Amino acid sequence: MIKYNLLCKKCDLSFNSWFASSKEYDKLNKKKLINCHSCGSLKVEKNLMAPKVISKNFSHKIEKKNLIKYQKIKKTINEYQKFIKNNFDYVGENFTYEARSIHYDKKKKNKGIYGTASKQDLKELKEEGIDAQLVPWFENKNN
Ligand SMILES: [Zn+2]
Repeated sequence: MIKYNLLCKKCDLSFNSWFASSKEYDKLNKKKLINCHSCGSLKVEKNLMAPKVISKNFSHKIEKKNLIKYQKIKKTINEYQKFIKNNFDYVGENFTYEARSIHYDKKKKNKGIYGTASKQDLKELKEEGIDAQLVPWFENKNN
């Protein structure tokens, strides 16, 4: 027997269901025989956020792998940050203001700018046709 956490795409209900095997799940899923316990929708998918079935050793290995991955990503981002710091002007929380003034006043700037903005700000800039990129950022207190 195998327990899957299933997610209803229609009403967002997540529920557990038992199957004889993963093959049986695939078979039932293909035949559209799995439906939501709440709304009866057939748009039910295996919820990938259910890591409870893995053993302790296995999960330890995964954590280690993720940690290495995380360190690698962090290193890349650090290099990226260095590049941005060297090539862009920091405008902090004035980012949206500065981005707009460059865009609308046609201010010529040799350097790009970087700073902080909310997701909503970025959305508004995009709607106004102003190009802004969201980059992952690590606060590094050593700098
Ligand atoms: Zn449902």
